[in-house]
Amino acid sequence: MDTKTLAKLQTRLEHKKEQLAEAIANRGEADTGHRLKGEFTSRFPSHGNKDEENATEVAEYQDTLSTEESLESSLEKVNAALERMEKGTYGECRKCGKEISRERLNAYPEADVCVQC
Ligand SMILES: [Zn+2]
Repeated sequence: MDTKTLAKLQTRLEHKKEQLAEAIANRGEADTGHRLKGEFTSRFPSHGNKDEENATEVAEYQDTLSTEESLESSLEKVNAALERMEKGTYGECRKCGKEISRERLNAYPEADVCVQC
């Protein structure tokens, strides 16, 4: 792959990384109350032990968790792609080792397998 295309894709990945990190940070902020409470509760089990309250918190926490997981797994993919750029293995299929098509990388810069795989 030519360095120009690589640089362009790298910029896009860096940008995506920032956006994802920001989205995760914002979620964390919105959720700080719950999370702190959760930490507090696990460290001090005598606090916040009303069953009803706990059930709501658990449900809300699970909601948050599933969204966070997808943001975080997206971020992981972006980071992995950036790492491959550093190592010089970017654009190679993780499974078959063939080159991933330019079209696919343009559409999905963090792709680590080719269309066939
Ligand atoms: Zn492949």
